[in-house]
Amino acid sequence: MTTSTNLLELDLDGIAAFCDALGEKRFRATQLFRWIHQRGVADFDQMSDLAKSLRQKLKGCAHVAALPILSEHASADGTIKWLFDVGGGNAVETVFIPEDDRATLCISSQAGCAVGCRFCSTGHQGFSRNLSSGEILAQLWFAEHQLRQRRGSDERVISNVVMMGMGEPLQNYSALVPALRTMLDDHGYGLSRRRVTVSTSGVVPMIERLAQDCPVALAVSLHAPDNALRDNLVPLNRKYPLTELLAACRDYLAYAPRDFITFEYCMLDGVNDQPEHARQLIALVNGPTGLPCKFNLIPFNPFPASGLRRSSQAAVLAFAKILSDAGIVTTVRKTRGDDIDAACGQLAGDVQDRTRVGERMARLRTIPIVPAS
Ligand code: SAH
Ligand code: SF4
Repeated sequence: MTTSTNLLELDLDGIAAFCDALGEKRFRATQLFRWIHQRGVADFDQMSDLAKSLRQKLKGCAHVAALPILSEHASADGTIKWLFDVGGGNAVETVFIPEDDRATLCISSQAGCAVGCRFCSTGHQGFSRNLSSGEILAQLWFAEHQLRQRRGSDERVISNVVMMGMGEPLQNYSALVPALRTMLDDHGYGLSRRRVTVSTSGVVPMIERLAQDCPVALAVSLHAPDNALRDNLVPLNRKYPLTELLAACRDYLAYAPRDFITFEYCMLDGVNDQPEHARQLIALVNGPTGLPCKFNLIPFNPFPASGLRRSSQAAVLAFAKILSDAGIVTTVRKTRGDDIDAACGQLAGDVQDRTRVGERMARLRTIPIVPAS
């Protein structure tokens, strides 16, 4: 008895190898891949330019499996959050954020996270398991084709992907890379490398590998200007301290599709939001270990177990001004989908904890702070 392969698990080379094993040529694999990712078709019988015999063969050994949906919440501002069931009582969230000039999908890479950042509800939840490539990609596959269907159009909807949902993508590297390749593939979603962002808390060796294997835009969650504070907020810093992290970022730039690294900085009242911290950051990135970068300040989204508070708006703006006065492009994330965050809180028990990640994923819209001249 043969097992059935979920074709969402495979990038184009993987599908080509799969087809080869069935005695089919590579162009058949390309056709199949296009049906799945460009047309959103899961039923082999609808793949009209594939020979009937191949369709029969495929039915016996392959399928295209979407993730079961637990809930969907749509905000008045157009943001949509989906909660997907990944089995074993685990759920992950995906958020669609439309803007005037782009539409971003925020994707999860793990159920839970092992890094355990103090300000992150996913970190507090602990690690459940890695998502497979297919589970990572299924979030894009579903969202893109579902939204096209609703709009009654074949036109591409999602222009940007950010790996900023639940989980640390670079601690699930082997599943991440094939999913990224399908996002970038011209026969898949054809997204530009500049419009696919991997966000990491700083898994240094994997930043180096990503540069070689699949250089996309990189966002690094910095959150602190020195090791003592960062050790406390992002425990992974004890393994990969700031000097190593910044060196890896600098090396990455040689391969990156953009000529800067984005630093994310979660603004925590009285913890990392003082003018002194901003000045230390400037010294860090403009100093000898420095590198071209942009800062994205994220107002902390509080949750009770964290014992932390969101910085005041005045503190965030003052912090942003110090950075931008030093010539560093700085943006502040604006809240999106507030009304569905509320709805999210109405979800039942254990699911509620797991969905808190969506509250920050919905905060992707940025307001540029114009550097002072
Ligand atoms: N694990 C990766 C990607 C997922 S987290 C990483 O840490 O980069 C995506 C972003 O959300 C990170 O910058 C993270 O610091 C931020 N974040 C996590 N919890 C948050 C919270 N409670 N409020 C605001 N931002 C948060
Ligand atoms: Fe994991 Fe990122 Fe949350 Fe840290 S911020 S616990 S790395 S998901």
